[in-house]
Amino acid sequence: MDRGARSRMIIFGLEGTAWNLSAALVDESGAIYEKSATYTPARGGIHPREASQHHAEHMRAVVGDVLAQARQRGLKLEGVAFSQGPGLGPCLRTVATAARALSLRFDIPLVGVNHCVAHIEVGKWQSGARDPAVIYVSGANSQVLALRQGRYRIFGETLDISVGNAIDKFARSVGLAHPGGPKVEELARKAKNYIPLPYTVKGMDLSFSGLSTAATEAAGKHDLEDVCYSLQETAFAMLVEVTERAMAHAEKREAMLVGGVGANARLGEMMRIMCHERGAEFFLPPRSFMGDNGSMIAYTGLLMLKSGISTPLDQSHVRPGYRTDEVLVSWA
Ligand code: AMP
Ligand code: MG
Repeated sequence: MDRGARSRMIIFGLEGTAWNLSAALVDESGAIYEKSATYTPARGGIHPREASQHHAEHMRAVVGDVLAQARQRGLKLEGVAFSQGPGLGPCLRTVATAARALSLRFDIPLVGVNHCVAHIEVGKWQSGARDPAVIYVSGANSQVLALRQGRYRIFGETLDISVGNAIDKFARSVGLAHPGGPKVEELARKAKNYIPLPYTVKGMDLSFSGLSTAATEAAGKHDLEDVCYSLQETAFAMLVEVTERAMAHAEKREAMLVGGVGANARLGEMMRIMCHERGAEFFLPPRSFMGDNGSMIAYTGLLMLKSGISTPLDQSHVRPGYRTDEVLVSWA
């Protein structure tokens, strides 16, 4: 048996809101083990039914592998955390069904975790941020948040599509395969010129849909590298502006970047410069914890269980539109 295994609280976590089915084991001292199976659309963007079929097909192998690791290490599971929402309905249902089965099989509590809150909690855990303004940018979400009176309050968010979706859509329109984010970043590095594109910040909210379309139109007239660069510069400047304003309003001395788009080095650089100029500290979790992962669900489940929160079976229905600020963060 692992040293100290008797006193450690080991949580099994299951993520699968969209493209990544991922199961993990976590305790307070660290991420122990993680196994994932990634859905890549044959063409176009993520298809909810196809993604859920992918998760169903790989569930046995992914979950089985992680349970085998727990057995080999002599670890006793004390809870099953799962991504309850927000996310794609069919994917959420597949994950919730598996999580309920595990909870019943091992007779351990079930914990329904808000996917966005999990991005934030794993980010704080992995980066050492204590009380940051958070910029959460992913394939489905773009939000600027800060903890105030027990909830991650949404200071600003996209009014249409997320920044990740905007970049992926643009990328597909110019023939780059999904997910386009990393490919656009690569091309942007070779740019020579900046092309003005629509910059849309409305109060604290953002809009990326028109920007994505304008970038597609510009790609017919300019070098692709220049368009990729200009799309990134415009979208990221919008996000940094809103984050800076949220920091001022919420009086936060820290900022943290999370979500899949957070893997972009240029966005990290722009955030770092903004924080430096305000005398604030910038936190960036390791890349492996940026995109959707099982460890973030397991870790947040652990925080919740330790503060006495679990999810009875009859309240374990999926929540495709689960808002970040619906969660009372009693553990913080
Ligand atoms: P998530 O939904 O948090 O798993 O993040 C997935 C999103 O992150 C997709 O829209 C990807 O295109 C995007 N992404 C991943 N790596 C990068 C990158 N280096 N630059 C920009 N976007 C990225
Ligand atoms: Mg995500």
